[in-house]
Parts: sequence; C-alpha cells; structure tokens
Amino acid sequence: MSLPIGFSSLNNTESSRIAYFSMEIAVAPDMPTYSGGLGVLAGDTLRSAADMGLPLAAVTLAHRKGYFQQHLDENGLQTEEAQPWNLEEKLSPEEPVVTITIEGRQVALRAWRYDLRGVTGHSIPIYFLDTDLEQNDPRDRVLTDQLYGGDGDYRLRQEVILGIGGIRILDALGYKAAVYHMNEGHAALLTVALLEDQLNGAPLSSAAKDDLAAVREHCVFTTHTPVPAGHDRFSLEQAHRILGEERAVFLEQKGCMHDGLLNMTYIALCFSRFVNGVAMQHGKVSRAMFPDYDISAITNGVHAATWTAASFQSVFDRHMPRWRQDNVTLRYAIDIPEEEIESAHTAAKQLLIDAVAQRTGVALRPDIFTIGFARRAATYKRADLLFTDPERLVRCAHERGGLQIIYSGKAHPADEPGKAKIRHVIELAKQLNSDSLRIVYLENYEWTLGALLTGGVDVWLNTPKRPYEASGTSGMKAALNGVPSLSILDGWWIEGWIEGVTGWAIEDNDDEAGEAGSLYDHLEQSLLPLYYGQPQQWRRIMRSTIALNGSFFNTQRMLEQYVVNAYFPEQRVDRPVEKLEPALTR
Ligand SMILES: *Cc1c(COP(=O)(O)O)cnc(C)c1O
Repeated sequence: MSLPIGFSSLNNTESSRIAYFSMEIAVAPDMPTYSGGLGVLAGDTLRSAADMGLPLAAVTLAHRKGYFQQHLDENGLQTEEAQPWNLEEKLSPEEPVVTITIEGRQVALRAWRYDLRGVTGHSIPIYFLDTDLEQNDPRDRVLTDQLYGGDGDYRLRQEVILGIGGIRILDALGYKAAVYHMNEGHAALLTVALLEDQLNGAPLSSAAKDDLAAVREHCVFTTHTPVPAGHDRFSLEQAHRILGEERAVFLEQKGCMHDGLLNMTYIALCFSRFVNGVAMQHGKVSRAMFPDYDISAITNGVHAATWTAASFQSVFDRHMPRWRQDNVTLRYAIDIPEEEIESAHTAAKQLLIDAVAQRTGVALRPDIFTIGFARRAATYKRADLLFTDPERLVRCAHERGGLQIIYSGKAHPADEPGKAKIRHVIELAKQLNSDSLRIVYLENYEWTLGALLTGGVDVWLNTPKRPYEASGTSGMKAALNGVPSLSILDGWWIEGWIEGVTGWAIEDNDDEAGEAGSLYDHLEQSLLPLYYGQPQQWRRIMRSTIALNGSFFNTQRMLEQYVVNAYFPEQRVDRPVEKLEPALTR
C-alpha cells in the first residue's frame, strides 16, 4: 500500500489506522501521567499526529496517583509526594468494561478518553486504562495507580494491562488498526493479544507461521534504551505466575527469554515488522545489542508549538505564518532580523528569572550569561561534570563577565546514586555561590519548568556519558527558542551539532577530567567571549539554531518518517533497512 504524505487524504478506516501504546504520556501540564523524556515524547508525537490529521488512537494507563512531586530540603535531600489527580474531571468515561486474567484472577478494566485536538481541528482519542472498579480484588484496583512504582510483580501486572488490556479495550471500542506502535517495550504483550485474536480462541501453541506473520505485519516497535540493564526483564517464575502457563510457555518457545529472564524487548523485537532506535547513533548501538534483528533509526523530535516560548511564537507567526501546520517552514527563521531574536529571547529569559525569584528568592540578572541543565537525575547524565574543577569554574566566571547556572531534575525514588548527584550539586552550589557565580537548583522539574528553562537560558548544557543518551530531547526544545547546546556528542546532538553554528561539542576524551576540560575550554574561549564581546554574532548563532535544528528536530518531521518508513512503507517485503540511515560518519 502506498500513501501520500497528504494526511487529510487518509480516511479513518481500518487499513489506515494506527494504535499507539505508551506506558506514559504527557498530555497536559496539569496531568501528572508521565515521568520524563519517554512520556513527553509520546505526548509530542500525539500532538503532531493530531496536527497532521493522522487517524490514530493512543493507549496508556490512568496513573491515578500521578508521578511523584519532588521536594528538596536545604541539603538537597529529596522526598517524594504522590500527586493524585482528578481523572473524572478531565476525561470522559467509555462504556465497555473488559475482563482480562492476571495472576489467575479476573481483572475488569475500563477506559477513560481524552480528545487531543490539533492545530487544524482534528482530534485523536487517548484511552487511559483503569482497574479501579468495585468488582476487582483490592490488589488489582491499585494496579493503574502508580507510574513506575511498586516492585517487579506490580510492573509486570501493569504491562499485562497496557498490552493485553489495551488491545481488548480497543476491540471492545471497535477500533481495529493496521499498525500497532509500541513506544518502548512496556507494551510488548500487545503482540500476544493480537495473536490470540488472530487464533480466534485456539490455543497459542497452535499458532502457525502464517499467524505469526500476520501479527508481525501489524507491529512497529521503538526501543529507547541503549543499555541492556535498562530493558524490562522478569523472572520465569513471575512470567508463569502472572501471565499464566500458556502465555509464558509460548513466549519461552519463541525465544523471548534471555539469560533465564523474560525480556520485553525480545518479545517486541520478535513480533515486529519494523523496529527502530531514536537517533542514528542509537540505531547503531541497538544493532550491536540485538544483532539478530533488523533495527532502523528515526530520530526523535519535539512538538514545536508546545515548546516554543510565547515571545518566539509571535515572531514565528509574523515571519512564517504556517509554522505550526508545517514545521519545516521554521527553516526560514534564517531571515528573521537579529533584533527580533534578541527581544524575544530577552522576554523568555525574564519569565525564567521571575520564576526563579518566585520559587527560590534568588535574584538572577538578565544581563548575565546563563547555563541551563535540567533532566532526570540519573548518574549517567552527570549533572556534576561542570563541577569537576570548581576552582577553574569560579575563575572562569570571575574573569569573563559572570555566570549563572540553573539546575533542575528529579531522581527516581529508588535511585540512591541519582539522589546523591542532586545532593552533590546543591552542596557545591552553596560552597561556590558568589557575586560572579550564581547557582540555583529548582525543585520539581516538570513540563512547565522545562518550558521556562529551555526557553529562557542562554545555552543548554548536556553532559551524558557516552553512549547512554539514546536521543535526548530537551536540547531540541532549547533550539526552537534559539538556545544553542553545549553538549557531549551523543544521541541527537551527533546529528544536530554544527560547531559555532548550532552550538558546541564537548570532546569525548573517554575520561571525565578530559571532558570537563573541553567543557571549560569552550566556556572560556568560545561561549563567554562571544556572548559578552560579540553580541551580534551570538544572535546569529541563536538564529541559525532555530533555522537548522528547530526545523528538523520536531515531531512532525519525525512522524512523517514513521509514516513513510514504518507505518505505511511503499513496499514491505525485502526492504533494505540500511537505506533509511544516512552515511553519517560522526
Ligand atoms: C523534555 C523533557 C524531558 C526529556 O529531556 P531529555 O533531554 O531527554 O533529558 C524530561 N522531563 C521533562 C519535564 C521534559 O520537559
């Protein structure tokens, strides 16, 4: 089947429908149904799907207790508070109740619908699965409460709900799709549900080659994790107990157990027609990790209108009036007068400074160069790389015009090393704060704060340990606001980096001191002299960052690539996977 990119010509019939499954989706700032990058990507993907008029429906869990809110005391000690949200107020209940089996118990579940409206008026339904029903065992009523909470048993039960419950609910709603897209391995069990549908009640053990091929034909899988330990795995005992004998034995026979564990990634790999990583480099890393599978790459993006500050939105509206419908027109930002870039940035920076003052009482200055660093406080993200040589940092700030650094980020409640990183940064901030160096750590990084930070700082710092950053998307949000990146060459930055044009690369010297040295060199020799000494040149860098990276690293371009390469490729048999990747030698 061949489909043009003119999506309005897609009719909403089974042969052109897509079902998108994700454990977390950032739908709106006041709905705490996401934890970080994966959920924001899912939300941005759906926002672009709605803008483009794609016939798509999404499935996730209700997460009634929300992802946690972070509190930090003056020593940087993190405590967590649940964020229950009023689902009944924001979503509409759907009629059907379906029953699935988890751990031998009958679990009833229903869906709540959110209609996500795009810029052209098209809307797509997002179904939130909910097991909080009276007829359920109390143990099962809480299964859709907590995102990434609980133990392995809790997680596997949730994955049964997402994958198998999700397909059963779509069946009950009459939504049959041509493509089922698994955003990460959490939803991998949907493949088993599709096979059960295909078999029409016959046991899984009776599945013939054609049945398996029929399921594969419908499935697309995006992997997001560049380390083996990051992939969801469960013991055989858990698999047999929670999935039941029939499903566990079947998955075992199909080779989805690895190192004695049931591995969700292998389930998804085994039953998908198209598999991809989330940046070119991540595609390579994934092929090395799973050499028996064809793995492609489609680089992530962000939803342009969502992550562009209001001040830049009006500039874009004036110069490229259709940028919301057609993100590629952001390329013409190259023609925006520098003064307009400057005044839009000044407005966004002031909003951030006001927010910092309100949240912390610290008065930052609009004329001082400001670095932003905000992300999940996982150790590989190395929030403290900038503090490797505190004396050099202090000297650099003192001698070159002054420096402000704004941090934010939550550690997963069980991630003690991540929490230690936060304490370390806050401790150093206290020690190093002076007139020329101001460091603040903002509590509770989430959507709104993410938008303020990526919109209002002067440079976006990213210091992950290679090759752990599959893609990263916050630097893309910054780019839409003309904020260049100073980053380790990993994930998307390998593709987005043009030295001195869209930002700067921290050289990878395979040792932390060397990387920190390269980071200081860039600050001392390039960034600060440019910012303070050549403001016009700095504005040109801001502008080329928008034109080159804002126009490409968005979810509209990303979804177009999914449509033509993954969802509806013109030819599905013997399609050489390599064709998708450019010959990138970086
Ligand atoms: C964009 C975003 C992320 C993901 O950013 P990375 O660059 O992938 O770390 C995480 N959390 C929030 C709140 C975001 O807005």
